[in-house]
Order: sequence, then structure tokens, then C-alpha cells
Amino acid sequence: MEQQQKANVVIFPTPGMGHLIPLVALAKRLVSHGGLSVTFAIPTTGKPPKAAKAVLEALPKSISHIFLEPISLADLEAAEDTRAETLICLTGVRSLPSLRKTLGSLAKSTRLVALVADLFGSHAFDVAKEFNLKPYIFFPSTAMCLSLFLHLPKLDETVSGQYTDVADPLQIPGCIPVPGRELLDPITDRTNDAYRWTLKTAERYREAEGIIVNTFIELEGRTIKALQEKEPGKPPVYPVGPLIGSDRADHECLKWLDEQPSGSVLYVSFGSGGTLSTEQLNELAYGLEMSEQRFLWVVRSPSDQAANATYFSAESQKEPYDFLPKGFLDRTRGQGLLVASWAPQIQVLSHGSTGGFLSHCGWNSTLESVVHGVPLIAWPLYAEQKMNALMLAEDIKVALRPKPRENGIIGREEIAKVVKSLMEGEEGKRLRVRMKSLKDAAADTLREDGTSTKTLKEVVEKISKP
Ligand code: UDP
Repeated sequence: MEQQQKANVVIFPTPGMGHLIPLVALAKRLVSHGGLSVTFAIPTTGKPPKAAKAVLEALPKSISHIFLEPISLADLEAAEDTRAETLICLTGVRSLPSLRKTLGSLAKSTRLVALVADLFGSHAFDVAKEFNLKPYIFFPSTAMCLSLFLHLPKLDETVSGQYTDVADPLQIPGCIPVPGRELLDPITDRTNDAYRWTLKTAERYREAEGIIVNTFIELEGRTIKALQEKEPGKPPVYPVGPLIGSDRADHECLKWLDEQPSGSVLYVSFGSGGTLSTEQLNELAYGLEMSEQRFLWVVRSPSDQAANATYFSAESQKEPYDFLPKGFLDRTRGQGLLVASWAPQIQVLSHGSTGGFLSHCGWNSTLESVVHGVPLIAWPLYAEQKMNALMLAEDIKVALRPKPRENGIIGREEIAKVVKSLMEGEEGKRLRVRMKSLKDAAADTLREDGTSTKTLKEVVEKISKP
């Protein structure tokens, strides 16, 4: 008997490892729990980043990938006020002709059923509709940030002037109130194109058949409940997380971790794109040294222009160790280990010697910490990270947040104090206990009969229905 062709889901990721990694985890679950096949159709601006290729090439046969024809952003990159979100959205928009061509040829050989776009990819819905594909959003961040995206058109209508000038914290449905200065980066300046792109993207969420979000009830129950309240024109929201990546790379830092006492090491990393200013990098180095705690630090060369200088490449731009304080490497030998640019983060977080994570609070990093029960020091840099830090420190209470000086720099004394407090203080103990219970809840929700797994199966059923 002829076997029926598997339903094929096309995933359209916009640039950034933080978008790709959870989409890959989603693809794996769609294949393993839903019997679907998946094709990644990936926009690029040139040669795909090495880190992205490595992740994609390691996937099983039922998950294939195609790099779309590279597009150019040269006109935008030349302008000084171009923000990352504009580049991210336009990479997607300018790739639509190539996506259309790719879907055309895929439709001849596979049974296409749905297109899953990530948070900045809803412009692809037009192309999805041309091919009768069900349009879905995968939101790789918090329910809190999703609630803001869905609420943004209303905010745009009702608030005049900059949101950052509103005196009271903003009320986003189901969330802890957010002071204007902590809002998602691209909406902090309504005169910039990044705001218009974010708004346009968010407005199209209502056309989705469903929004899949990388979170879970025990983590963000109140917000998820608000998102799931039925309203005309609001698509169903499916929390299926925590979906995290996996890495099996061999790395010298893992051997070093093997030699350290249990729970004694603070892992320090600012994600794939995060960079510090020269002064801040210096203060952090002194702060870690003064804390007298063990640390494993993923160092990138500083950038005094942007906090996300390596977002599109995930690679350090210059030799990072040249920027450290004089004698730092010698003085901290034995206490700390430095890794340039990139560490196998999941393996580091799952290692028994790791006891804390100083993080930029990118949502993937946060979920990876939750899954492994590692409490956080919240050091947000860009995108929605300040909102994440607010939620983690003040709502869920699994992170300590160091206070910057008036000039925005976090000083070495403050860093040393917070690091000590997390690694050996009473506050650190309390955070660790709470993280442990979230770790258990995360494991439960992903079991075969767990809530996130059931929700994922519901999505698969809807996607597969003719
Ligand atoms: N990552 C990693 N090694 C590094 C830095 C980052 O493996 O040295 C991975 C990390 O595990 C996470 C992703 O890259 O899965 C970063 O995503 P996140 O949302 O935390 O931050 P973003 O990079 O998008 O700012």
C-alpha cells in the first residue's frame, strides 16, 4: 500500500541564534510527537553564520533546511539610527520572493500544511496564504513579552508621546507592571523605524491560526491565563515550553569544570549577541576577581557603540583578552577560566560544578538555567531582556539584579557583592530552592502526560487537520 506523504511544516526563522535554537527544538518535537516533517527556509544576508550551520547540519533527516537567496541590507546598515529589529524584519521581508520560489518547488514534492514564522516573521503570512498554508507564530520569548506584542496596537492608539515618558508603570494584561525604561528596546523610541516594524509585525499576529510560545504554566501562569482569555480576533495561545537546544561539543572548559567543587562556579555569558562597553568589561573583570568566587566567563571584545554588536555573527570582533585589565589573567588563574566568544552553554549549565549564571537574560539562556535549576544574576542588555530581568528578579524571584551607578555602569563593588550573595549568601540559597522547584516543574510539563506536551499535541492535531 502506498504510504501517505508526511505533512510538511515550513519554518521561517528571522536572523539570530536565539530565534533559531528554540525553533530547532520545536521542529524536533513536531517530528517526534506529531509525525510531521519540517523544512527550515532560512533568510540570510550572505554566508550563514557558522553557529547556525552547525546546529542545522546535526539534525535528523525529517528536518531539512534551505538557505534562501541572500539579500542585501547595505542601504540600512549605512544609516546610523538603524536598529537590529529593522534589520531583522527587513531580512525577512526582502526574502519573501525567494521564500515564494522555495515553497513553489517544495509544494511539488511534499505535502505542505503550515508555515511557522518567528516573532518578527509575520510578514510571511501573505506568502503562506498563497500556498494555502496555515499561518502560525512561534514566539521564542516570554508570555509577558507576547502579551505586550498583542497589546501594542492598543497602546499605540491610546498613548501619545514616548512610552518611556509615561509616569506610571505600564499595565500589560496579566503581567507585573513595567516601568517605561524597562520596555522592549524597539518600542522605547516611537520615532525610529524599529518601532514601526515591531508594531506592523505585532498587528499581523491576529491573522495567525495560533501562537506557540516558549514558556510554561508553572513559570508564567498568570500571564498565560490572560493570553488565553477569549477575545474576538485573538488567536489561541499555546505554551509548549521550555524548549531548549542541545549541544554535545567537546570543550576544554568542561574538563576544567570537572575539576571544580560542586555548585561552586559562576557561569558568565551575555548570549550570542551581547557585548559590554570597554569600561563595563573592566569593572566586571575586577568585580569577578574581588568576589573571590570561581567563574567561567565567555568573553567578547567590547563595543562602545552597541550592546548587541555580535547579534548577526555570534563571534567576537577582536581578540577579547586584549581588553582585560592588566595582569587579570595571571591573578585569576585557578579562580576562573575564560572562553573566547562561545561556550557549550547547555553542557555548562547542566554540569554539577555550575552553581550560578550571570546572564543577559535572553529567554533561551533563562530557560536553560531554569531547566537545570541554576539561579541567576540578571544583567540585561538589549531586546526584551530588561523585561525578562524585571520578571525574574521581582515576580518569579529567581534572580538577583545588580544596581548600576547613575552613569549606567555597574561598578566592581556591586558586582562582587551580588556574586557573593548568589554563590554563598542566604539570598542565594532561597533563589536556589525556588529554581529547583521550577526545574522539577519544567521536567514534569515536558513528560509524555505533561501539560506542555499535551498542548503541543493539540497544535499538531490542528496543523495536520485538512
Ligand atoms: N549560546 C551558547 N554559547 C554561548 C552563548 C550562547 O551555546 O557562548 C546559546 C545559548 O545556550 C542560547 C543561545 O545561544 O541557547 C542564546 O539565546 P538567548 O535567547 O539567551 O540570547 P540571544 O543570543 O538571543 O541574545
